[in-house]
Amino acid sequence: MTEWMHERLHDDYAQSLRVDRVLYDSATDHQRLRLFENARFGRVLTLDDVVQTTEADNFIYHEMMAHVPLLAHGAARRVLIIGGGDGGLAREVLRHPGVDHVVMVEIDAGVIEFSRQYLPSLSDGAFDDPRLEVVIDDGAAFMARKGGTFDVILVDSTDPTGPGEVLFTDSFYGHARSRLTEGGVLVTQNGVPFLQGAELAGTMRAFRALFADWGCYLCTIPTYAGGPMALGWATDGVARDTPLNVLQARYAEAGLETDYYTPEVHLAAFALPGYVRRLMP
Ligand code: SAM
Repeated sequence: MTEWMHERLHDDYAQSLRVDRVLYDSATDHQRLRLFENARFGRVLTLDDVVQTTEADNFIYHEMMAHVPLLAHGAARRVLIIGGGDGGLAREVLRHPGVDHVVMVEIDAGVIEFSRQYLPSLSDGAFDDPRLEVVIDDGAAFMARKGGTFDVILVDSTDPTGPGEVLFTDSFYGHARSRLTEGGVLVTQNGVPFLQGAELAGTMRAFRALFADWGCYLCTIPTYAGGPMALGWATDGVARDTPLNVLQARYAEAGLETDYYTPEVHLAAFALPGYVRRLMP
């Protein structure tokens, strides 16, 4: 009999993926972790029955979350990732030769161990890169402590339920600002605005109170269903409208090869349709 995974993120709308083979199904200390194979998407990782990442389409989210802020900044050396335990975001960040230290703060060691074993293509060696330091901790607790500052902070979180909820609070964003170097930039996972508009609006209100330049940019990921996903953007210094020729030069200099990100897509991603713009405070 054909088995399907029905995602339980929304009460009134769901996506389903055919489960061709279950490879792993177990509870970690924090959440239920499942890995299965789907003919179209390859290996699919779910946490509490919400799709986190797939082998086939993760490049879109990870490239856009890493390369937009890093190429807009242009000289980032220290990067902080909150969450991101599958290693896909670290993989893209570490493609930048100018980045010399990445701290990843992940609450669930189980996600990292698991992803290293069962989804090695996600991290593609990132966990063995000496520039990566992994800290097992709650990202909000880490952020609230005094400590080093970062040129780029990336919040690769689950949705705002369960352990991820604290990563969407005003106090978390305030602490994140104090952990940015002057002219640093914060990028956050803010869900799919068509379905999760209130969450994006909440983050934008917090950003407006804290940062000189704030907003979001969009990218479309098939398994984050419901239209384009919003990535929050907050900075006191990095230009969101870096000239195209500058982005092209930085992209070439970093030696990047990407399947979604291009300098043209980078600039276009900040253009918002009306229904998203209306969520801005
Ligand atoms: N890209 C996915 C999405 O949009 O749904 C999320 C990726 S997944 C790698 C998110 C990670 O955030 C998970 O590994 C989870 O354990 C971690 N996480 C959730 N809450 C956290 C917290 N408070 N501190 C640190 N990591 C957290």
